[in-house]
Amino acid sequence: MGLTMREQDTTDAARGLQLRVIPRDAHPISRKDISPNALRVLYRLRDAGFGAYLVGGAVRDLLVGGHPKDFDVATNATPEEVRALFRNCRLIGRRFRLAHVVFGREIIEVATFRANTDDGSGDRQLHEGGRLLRDNVYGTIEDDAVRRDFTANALYYAIEDFSVRDYVGGFEDVQNRVMKLIGDPETRYREDPVRMLRAVRLAAKLGFRIDGATASPLPVLAPLLREAAPARLFEECLKLFLSGHAERSFLGLESHGLLDVLVPESSQALRSNRSGALRRMLLEGLRNTDARVAAGEPVSPAFLFALLLWPAYCRALMALQAQGMHAAEAQRRAADRVTLHQLQVIALPRRFSLPMQEIWLLQSRFGQRKRMGRFLSHPRFRAAFDFLELRQVASPEHADDVAFWREAQGGAFAAGDHEADSDAGDGDGDAALPRRPRRRPRRRRSGGSAGTA
Ligand code: ATP
Ligand code: MG
Repeated sequence: MGLTMREQDTTDAARGLQLRVIPRDAHPISRKDISPNALRVLYRLRDAGFGAYLVGGAVRDLLVGGHPKDFDVATNATPEEVRALFRNCRLIGRRFRLAHVVFGREIIEVATFRANTDDGSGDRQLHEGGRLLRDNVYGTIEDDAVRRDFTANALYYAIEDFSVRDYVGGFEDVQNRVMKLIGDPETRYREDPVRMLRAVRLAAKLGFRIDGATASPLPVLAPLLREAAPARLFEECLKLFLSGHAERSFLGLESHGLLDVLVPESSQALRSNRSGALRRMLLEGLRNTDARVAAGEPVSPAFLFALLLWPAYCRALMALQAQGMHAAEAQRRAADRVTLHQLQVIALPRRFSLPMQEIWLLQSRFGQRKRMGRFLSHPRFRAAFDFLELRQVASPEHADDVAFWREAQGGAFAAGDHEADSDAGDGDGDAALPRRPRRRPRRRRSGGSAGTA
C-alpha cells in the first residue's frame, strides 16, 4: 500500500497536531475482520449520534494483517451514556471509568475520550519522578490520541465512513514498521516505566524496529522499572514470553538493557557464563515455547520462570555448594533465595513459584535410577523431564539421562517435544548441579499448573 492517497487535512493549531484521514480505499481494514460484537457496539453508538471508533492495538494489528485478540472502542459518549445504550453493559474502574459491553465470553471495552493535560486543572498529578498518578479527565479525540504511548497505537477507525484517523503519524510508522513514542521519549518513560517493556514487546510481536529516539533512553532509564508494580510486571512478562514471540522479546530486552532490571540475577549469571551455554539453553526453551504457542499447545508460567531464572538458580547453587553445603540442602536454599529475590521485582504468584521450584529440585532425581515408578507418577515429572531435555542443550552429558528416562516412560509420549540439538552446548552450563545426589529432594506440595512448557 503506497502513500499516494487522498488525504484530507485539518489542523489542531494549538498542539501542531495534523489530522490525516486515510479513506477506506487507501487502507486494508475490512469490516469482515472486525469482531461482529465490536461492530454492533460501534453502530449503536453511531446511530445514537455519538462518535464511535475502533482504537489501539486492534487497528494497529489489522493494518499489519494480524488478528487482534480484543477490540477496544473509543467514543465521545460518557460511560453513563454508553450504559444507557446497552443492556449488557457494566461500568468498571475507579481511577478512570470504562464501560464493558458483555457478549458471552467476549467483552468490548468502550472508553470515553480522555485527556492527560497539563492545563492546570489539577486533575493530572505527577509523582516527583515524573510518574503519572492520576489521569481521569475526559477530553477530545485529539487529547485521547496524544495520551497514548506509541504512534502505532493511536489510530482510530471511524465507523461513520470506515476511514482511519491519524493525529500523530502512526499510519506511516506502521507502514514503515517502526515503534515510536508519542512526545518526548524520556518524559513518556518517566510517566510510566512499563512503556519501556511495551516498546520491546510490541516490536517483538509485530516484527517492528524501535525508532532511535524511542530506543536510546532505554538502557539509561531501565532502573525506573523497579518502581513499577510487581503485579503489573508479572502480567507484562506473560505477554512478553507466552504470546508466541518469546525469543524476540528476550533478545530485545537483552539488547536494550532491560533484562538486567527484570531478572537481575539471571542476567548476571548469563553474563558470567562465558561459554554461553546457559544462554543457548534459555533461547532454545523460548523457541520451544513459541513453537507450542504457534501449535496451539498450552504453555505455563511455572515452566517459563523455571527457564528464565535457571541461570540464577545454578549460580546460587554453585555458591552455596562452594561453601560446603550438602547438595540437597543447597538446592532448596538456592531455589528459595532466587525466588525471594525475584519477587521484589516481579510478583510471581505462589501457584507458579512452587511448581517452578519443583521443576528445579526434581532435576537431581534424573541422575538416580531407583524408585522410578514413584518419580514417573510425580505430577511434575513431565515438566521436569522437558526441562532436562533443554538442559541437554547446554550440557550434552545429560543425553544419557534423557535417553534413560524417555525409555522408562515406555514411549508413553512422543519423543522430540523438546528435541534439543545436542551439539550446541560445551558442557559447563549447569556444572554446579550434582549428577547423582545421595538424597532424594523433598517432595513438595503439588498443585498449580506446571504443564509441560
Ligand atoms: P496488545 O493487546 O497486543 O497487548 P495493545 O496495544 O492493545 O497491545 P493494551 O494494553 O491492550 O495494548 O492497550 C490498548 C491501548 O491503550 C494501546 O494500544 C494504547 O493506545 C493504550 N495504552 C496501553 N497502555 C498504555 C500506556 N502504558 N501508556 C499509554 N497508552 C497506553
Ligand atoms: Mg489490546
